[in-house]
Amino acid sequence: MKLNSSEKQILELISFGQGISRKRIAELLNMTQGSITNMTKLLLEHHFIVEGERIGSGMGRKEVLLYANPRKFTYLGVDIGGHAVRFALSDNCLDLLHEDECLMKDLLPQENRAEALLRKLDEFLAKCGADAASLDAIGIGITGIVDAGGQIVLNMPNAPYWDDINLVSLVHKHFGCPVFLDEGGRTMAIAEQMTGKASDIADFIVVQVGYGIAAGIMINGQLLRGVNNTAGLLGHITADPHGSRCTCGNYGCLENIITFPMLEKDFKERGGSGLLIEAYRQNDKIALDVCIDAGQALGIALSNVVNLFNPDTIFIGGPMFTEMPLMLDETKRTITLRANRFSTLSLKLENTSFGGRQGIVGTLALAKSRLIRELSDYTP
Ligand SMILES: [Zn+2]
Repeated sequence: MKLNSSEKQILELISFGQGISRKRIAELLNMTQGSITNMTKLLLEHHFIVEGERIGSGMGRKEVLLYANPRKFTYLGVDIGGHAVRFALSDNCLDLLHEDECLMKDLLPQENRAEALLRKLDEFLAKCGADAASLDAIGIGITGIVDAGGQIVLNMPNAPYWDDINLVSLVHKHFGCPVFLDEGGRTMAIAEQMTGKASDIADFIVVQVGYGIAAGIMINGQLLRGVNNTAGLLGHITADPHGSRCTCGNYGCLENIITFPMLEKDFKERGGSGLLIEAYRQNDKIALDVCIDAGQALGIALSNVVNLFNPDTIFIGGPMFTEMPLMLDETKRTITLRANRFSTLSLKLENTSFGGRQGIVGTLALAKSRLIRELSDYTP
């Protein structure tokens, strides 16, 4: 069986949404309700979708909502950050079944990171009682640069020994199912669009700050990639022309100012003692100054982003903002102060939907979105 283009469109609407009626699908695709009923019948028979609750009230006919069948597909997500690597298994509705993580420094030998990663993934699946045959697709997000073909990790500025690795080919050979690779900030944006707060927002940006900075720019419902697939390198724009050398080769990058290790370094260099977060909690003047300066640097960078892309919403994530809210306040204040006043008329700044799981949910959302879109040759 092959899905035709209308069946695929319907499947995408149901799979990427959060409950939709046949009537609404007919309106969106400009088709008759009869043809939608026939095509959804086929999708129901092949267990791609399930019927949910009835909605509507009063005298009108109640509409049944259609959902993706949670048991149809199983996804493995792998979120590779410079500091930690997270794994998760999910069902077809992206509900997490199992999750685990390891540190990048534990992927040894470091000259052979990819093989070490495959061993960790085997261990993870064994712990979950799953095997390669149970996986339908794998999504991988990295805090780094992926080639334009979406196959090769070209560079991870915060993690050596990842250059020029054809990760898609290696993982596919090992597990046998389709494997999809993208930059981590973009996967976070896909998660926000598919199951987060951006389901009805066409223009938005996701920014995650931790040991590195990841950003995904969604314009008119599509991810911005650029000709070399590097669009969205927010962490490596110059924030201080006189700043020190960054791991990417440039000088004074934003990542040299606002990431966990850099904030700690700044705190020490200004004469702070102990840990930044502890000092912040005690209203230590140096700690507060570090947060204000970092918030300003991020705010200036984001005000430029706002002027360039005029997003509806910026979703900001990262534990440092919940631990040290002054930094987020300063970021917001700086954006309002510095971005064009017409661009900020309706601009919203919100927390990301999945907190510490934004990256891993993103990799699962990547696996799902690409698998469903490539189902035209699917044989049940
Ligand atoms: Zn840099």
